[in-house]
Amino acid sequence: MRTLLWLALALVIYLIWRLITASPLRISSPRGGTTKGRSSGGKRVIDAGDMVKDPVCNTYIPAGNSIVENIGGQTFHFCSPQCRDKFIKSQDKSKDQAAI
Ligand SMILES: [Zn+2]
Repeated sequence: MRTLLWLALALVIYLIWRLITASPLRISSPRGGTTKGRSSGGKRVIDAGDMVKDPVCNTYIPAGNSIVENIGGQTFHFCSPQCRDKFIKSQDKSKDQAAI
């Protein structure tokens, strides 16, 4: 019976998490330009108010609050220095593997 309780608890946590992650994203794009520049393949201009994705923990953060790092000619946005360091380390690893 204990496992059933844990399953129910996990479901509740999951639902709460879904609510938290789904709602702020929609509110934070008042200009309605969420798809701008996506299909054109050109350079996407990022405003400070735009939501950017942290490639390490997949969190969306406002570009103005993110840590911007230029790696290999590409600009990445991170939620924290820890995520940035993680990403740089993983990039270094993949470089080592590619060199072999
Ligand atoms: Zn992160």
